[in-house]
Amino acid sequence: MTEVSVVKDAVPAADDLVVLKSVNKHFGALHVLQDIDLTITRGEVVVVIGPSGSGKSTLCRTINRLESIDSGDIRIDGKPLPAEGKALARLRADVGMVFQSFNLFAHKTVLENVMLGQIKVRKADKNKAEEKARGLLDRVGVGTQADKYPAQLSGGQQQRVAIARALAMDPKVMLFDEPTSALDPEMINEVLEVMQQLARDGMTMVVVTHEMGFARSAANRVVFMADGRIVEEAVPDQFFSNPRSDRAKDFLSKIL
Ligand code: ADP
Ligand code: MG
Repeated sequence: MTEVSVVKDAVPAADDLVVLKSVNKHFGALHVLQDIDLTITRGEVVVVIGPSGSGKSTLCRTINRLESIDSGDIRIDGKPLPAEGKALARLRADVGMVFQSFNLFAHKTVLENVMLGQIKVRKADKNKAEEKARGLLDRVGVGTQADKYPAQLSGGQQQRVAIARALAMDPKVMLFDEPTSALDPEMINEVLEVMQQLARDGMTMVVVTHEMGFARSAANRVVFMADGRIVEEAVPDQFFSNPRSDRAKDFLSKIL
């Protein structure tokens, strides 16, 4: 029995897509990520919540290596994070990221924004890239905006283009860092609906958000962070109705 369990522990489960083990990171004297252990399985939707400054964005950024870590281990689909070069570009493409600020290329059209990475990183040919881009823009509901420039679109439309652009790389996992925080209220739902649909389609997702309705309806698991630590993890129903830690109770009392 013991031997079997040792073997089982040594081989990561095939369904483990993103695995962080004892991850630590400092910004100078600030210990921004403290012994983070987090495993996200294929098809899982994990919502990360917590007070401002708790390290949620830093956590997302370490997963696709926009930030380095001081110690610990991060694997995507069993592979460690490459430090640089083409391998890193491919890894980044496997991990789609959508930010609060839409970060589209301002001097490229919507269509070009969604084609570019496919051609540069995935080496797709132009016709294939365009066909796929148009399909994805339709899927997120902005197909008719393809020839416009980002500044000509509403915030909600730009964010949906940013989602299409990330999806164009066929990512294994999508990270969303407060994707609706910069949007006018009437545009929040159109973005959340696209994310809901993605979740239903089986995309593996890590979503930092203050939209508790989305967390309740789309998340398989809620991860609550405070002061650089994962303080609590639970299924949404349990987390919202019966948070265990005082930190989570305090946080929820302020936002709900
Ligand atoms: P959250 O997304 O939960 O609000 P962040 O991950 O953005 O938290 O930030 C966590 C802490 O790290 C904050 O105190 C923030 O000021 C600090 N921080 C974030 N990025 C940097 C940086 N590049 N340099 C120094 N401190 C940073
Ligand atoms: Mg943040």
